[in-house]
Amino acid sequence: MKIIMLGAPGAGKGTQAIKIADKYGIPHISTGDLFRSNIGNNTELGREAKQYMDAGKLVPDELTVRMLFDRVSNEDCKNGYVLDGFPRTIAQAEVLEEEVGKRDDRIDFAINVDVPDDHIIRRMSGRRACPKCGATYHIEHVPPKKEGICDSCGEQLILRNDDAPETVQKRLDVYHEQTQPLIDFYDKRKILRTVDGTKDLQDVFGEIVKILGD
Ligand code: ADP
Ligand code: ADP
Ligand code: ZN
Repeated sequence: MKIIMLGAPGAGKGTQAIKIADKYGIPHISTGDLFRSNIGNNTELGREAKQYMDAGKLVPDELTVRMLFDRVSNEDCKNGYVLDGFPRTIAQAEVLEEEVGKRDDRIDFAINVDVPDDHIIRRMSGRRACPKCGATYHIEHVPPKKEGICDSCGEQLILRNDDAPETVQKRLDVYHEQTQPLIDFYDKRKILRTVDGTKDLQDVFGEIVKILGD
């Protein structure tokens, strides 16, 4: 099964993608996590990507596409994957369609996690992230067992650089301009499914399971 998660920054794509990956036994691939891991390892790609990420802009398609295809060519992606944060531009979606098509394959579903902007801005200020393993928490909705500490690996949680309110607003603008057109793109291909991302995260997951099947 090949699934794409669509939605604004902070809509809950990552949260749901992890649950999908777990239930259906496919890898969760987040381009944001791949970039952050490159930044952590101080690779050339990481240094290049960081400037764009800190400014709330998209990393250029060429760098992003190369990194993504490198990852999905791994053996563990043979039976599918859930993509979180890719594609984010029409150009990325077109390249993905072409690549998948070369293998006589197709994307099964694009799940659009729908959350209005004002809701996103409130939600993002409470997001906390683990810089080591990528786990995401929320100070009210998804608190870690021990305040400020990652449940999975014990690392100190951080507020991401790009989750500052000014940068979130910039990222939302970029989303509306460059990523939202993908909703129409996948609707035309009859694989778009929209879920209400303002609901409790278990309810959102319930809606997704209804779409994907048990
Ligand atoms: P969120 O889900 O909160 O928007 P991500 O972790 O998915 O955040 O992405 C963080 C940043 O990484 C983005 O703001 C952007 O700079 C960069 N990025 C991630 N995925 C892509 C992509 N497909 N194309 C371009 N830039 C990307
Ligand atoms: P995205 O990957 O789309 O940027 P995340 O999955 O990181 O979004 O979620 C953004 C923030 O909102 C995180 O702090 C997360 O814990 C929290 N969150 C995710 N889903 C929900 C939900 N349904 N209700 C409340 N908070 C949520
Ligand atoms: Zn961790």
